[in-house]
Amino acid sequence: MDRRSFLATLVSGIALAAVGGGAGYALARNGVDPLALLPHPDGTTATPTPTSTLVYPDGRPVPTLIPQAQEVYGQFAVPRLARVRVPSGEISSLPGQGNLVALTVDDGASSETIKGYCDFVERTNFRMTFFITSQYDGWDANIKQLRRLVDRGNIQIANHTTTHKDLTRVSDSTVAQQLSGCERYIKNNFGITGHPYFRPPFGFINDNVARIAANEGYSTPVLWYGSFGDAGRVSYASIRSLAKRWLQAQHIVIGHANFPVVTHCFDTIESILHERKLQPVTLDDVYKRNI
Ligand SMILES: [Zn+2]
Repeated sequence: MDRRSFLATLVSGIALAAVGGGAGYALARNGVDPLALLPHPDGTTATPTPTSTLVYPDGRPVPTLIPQAQEVYGQFAVPRLARVRVPSGEISSLPGQGNLVALTVDDGASSETIKGYCDFVERTNFRMTFFITSQYDGWDANIKQLRRLVDRGNIQIANHTTTHKDLTRVSDSTVAQQLSGCERYIKNNFGITGHPYFRPPFGFINDNVARIAANEGYSTPVLWYGSFGDAGRVSYASIRSLAKRWLQAQHIVIGHANFPVVTHCFDTIESILHERKLQPVTLDDVYKRNI
């Protein structure tokens, strides 16, 4: 069968399906593309043809039966940046003009969510920083996968204390222990240091906390410029709308690994980043550590 007669058969087949009680539409409703059911002249499965190019024998256009293809994105690139020195004092956004975005994910109360993030990173080559609260079992539960991704440079581990106390309301020695305990966990489990990046629980910090932290090697408090608002339990819609709002060039955005609802928003996050041509980065992708 040559190409032209194949197309004629195809068109009349669809016309018959449409006329004959709507069988074609029923198939389409069930998610089966009727065009794909017809054999291709070379024996392979027919490639869905844009239906706008097909007409019925009487010249009417064949209605669109094929749902729009889902956008398929490639993997995120590995950034090759001229890294800058970590500035002194706290940071809440990335330096200069560019297309970078640093997602920083805190706590870790949900092992399933940590795993979800790791799978997302593995699937898309995403890059991000975890600020871990070391008391949570979820870090241990996912340690192998985390280590692999840390070794690959896709995930960076930083310090979010041992038990998430408000550091502005505890003794100086407790501030030091909260940071040194988490640092010990990072060292023992990843063989690296979290220095100099820490995130004070709740974002609460004062000069005294900053001074004690710096003595512990944690001289860079990392705050944020935009949040998924998901420290507690929230809706998909809320996370998606905050992701749309805050995933912007040079922002440091905060999320949480506390409830798995965010793992159902990864497709949205992925498409926002691709549409906006944003490059996800870890802090190490951007800054040279002074250690
Ligand atoms: Zn936290």
